[in-house]
Amino acid sequence: MTAKTLHVAVIGAGIAGLQFTHDLSRRGISHTVYERGSEVGGTWRENTYPGLYIDVPISLYQLSFAKKYDWSHAFPRGTEIQEYLVKASHDHDLRRHIRFDTEVVETAWAGDHWELTLADGSIDTADAVVSATGFLDKPTMPSFPGMDTFAGVSFHSSNWPAGLDVGGKRVGIVGSGSSGIQLTSSLGSLGATVTQFVRSPQWVEMITNPPAPGWLKFLGRHIAPRVPVLAAWVSRQLLGRPKLDRRLWSTWIWRIQPGPERVDAQNALREDILHIRDEQLRTRMTPDYEPGCKRIPKSDRYFLAVQEPHVQVAVGAIDRIEPSGVVTADGTVHELDVIVYATGYDSHAYMRPMKVTGLQGRTIEQAWAGGPYAYRCMSVPDFPNFWVINGPFAPVANISPTVCVVDQSDYVCRLLALTAEQGVATAPTAAATERFVAAIDEAMPNTIWAGDCDSWYRSGDRIILWPWDETTYHAMFAELGIEDLELVPLTVAVS
Ligand SMILES: Cc1cc2nc3c(=O)[nH]c(=O)nc-3n(C[C@H](O)[C@H](O)[C@H](O)COP(=O)(O)OP(=O)(O)OC[C@H]3O[C@@H](n4cnc5c(N)ncnc54)[C@H](O)[C@@H]3O)c2cc1C
Repeated sequence: MTAKTLHVAVIGAGIAGLQFTHDLSRRGISHTVYERGSEVGGTWRENTYPGLYIDVPISLYQLSFAKKYDWSHAFPRGTEIQEYLVKASHDHDLRRHIRFDTEVVETAWAGDHWELTLADGSIDTADAVVSATGFLDKPTMPSFPGMDTFAGVSFHSSNWPAGLDVGGKRVGIVGSGSSGIQLTSSLGSLGATVTQFVRSPQWVEMITNPPAPGWLKFLGRHIAPRVPVLAAWVSRQLLGRPKLDRRLWSTWIWRIQPGPERVDAQNALREDILHIRDEQLRTRMTPDYEPGCKRIPKSDRYFLAVQEPHVQVAVGAIDRIEPSGVVTADGTVHELDVIVYATGYDSHAYMRPMKVTGLQGRTIEQAWAGGPYAYRCMSVPDFPNFWVINGPFAPVANISPTVCVVDQSDYVCRLLALTAEQGVATAPTAAATERFVAAIDEAMPNTIWAGDCDSWYRSGDRIILWPWDETTYHAMFAELGIEDLELVPLTVAVS
């Protein structure tokens, strides 16, 4: 019996899609990557606002097959990450698999394969679908009265207009997530007068992020790629440059279980806010929820920036937008030339608005009517050979997504081997999925994210995160867990 020849559709060419196309190629698995945009990079292609940088040490945020050692900083800017991803796609000959400017609008299981409807109306087929469409890909805009009357320029932070010069302009930044904090910290140095509108103040971790010295970059560029021992040393040197609070960085356990480590980590965050010397401002900007409950933005200057004369913070609700600017609930009119809505993403949209239909015509909207869930953070009963990369419950708050994607890719490739060998598609059983979700729900109350705060991790009453550590995550993929899988026979005969 010869194995069935598979063709896989990968949707999205961000870091996850790039890892998949590399791994599928290496295993000789035929596939096509569909990318809505004109370039690879996902998040790092879309977001070009000033001051964007990564908050995970870059040595932990790399494609497994394209290590780079000559980074400019331990936490480099978004532009540098985007350049790295584009270069990796060329260097590793990944682009030949990618169809750019091609959005998949629908995928439906058609008995023994998937049919993908593209935005131009054409239909492609595949034996399996990898949805690498990201978890922060769908921007959310607020709906303040009068938004469309604003006379200046306004846009979501993920849509920064090319060539926009904010020098001499009055810029309002709506939002206090990572993007809002990065923008507030950086626009002053571009000559803007900044007002940040903060509904919910944030605990912010103050770090330093000094540039890598020339000699380290030289070693990283010319020697480390050929000498593994030196590569590890260069990575350690780079990671050692920023000032990082040991209480937050020496262990991650404080996020997943109560104890002295959590007390220490929270104290570290409470001390960081003391960078605001003005007591009144500090009181206004002190959150009313536990440190760590929401994702913690990192900054080398946010609490300093908010004390500068050209930056002000308006804490409280926005009442409406007028042609001249923003009116806050206290009746103050803030006159502005530019409004940036740093209002985040629909973190639980996953592949949607793409329509997905599985066995017996069941749609993903029906499956997720009560909120998103997935077995092993990737697959959903009744959706055979369909995987949502970094899907519901993935450890997006506590493990670097690039690290997680390696496990996911390896797991999917092993399941694809089963499909090829046995002529079956796989989907998790409902019972196994219920057990998996129940275990998550049971562990979650121990975590810091289960506190009394409103975060993008929350969907209704449920926190959609991984409540355990990294070792447990890797271990989950050690076995295929055949007993948890429904094997859906493919009607195409295996010859
Ligand atoms: C502003 C910002 C800052 C961030 N900073 C950090 C950080 O500091 N640290 C961190 O760990 N994470 C950060 N993230 C999270 C970041 O999204 C992930 O780290 C990572 O980039 C996710 O990669 P991905 O490939 O899964 O998804 P994405 O990078 O979102 O890529 C998804 C790709 O799929 C494409 N796509 C989507 N739908 C379709 C469709 N229907 N058809 C065809 N193509 C489609 C998109 O065009 C995109 O290219 C940040 C996110 C944002 C938005």
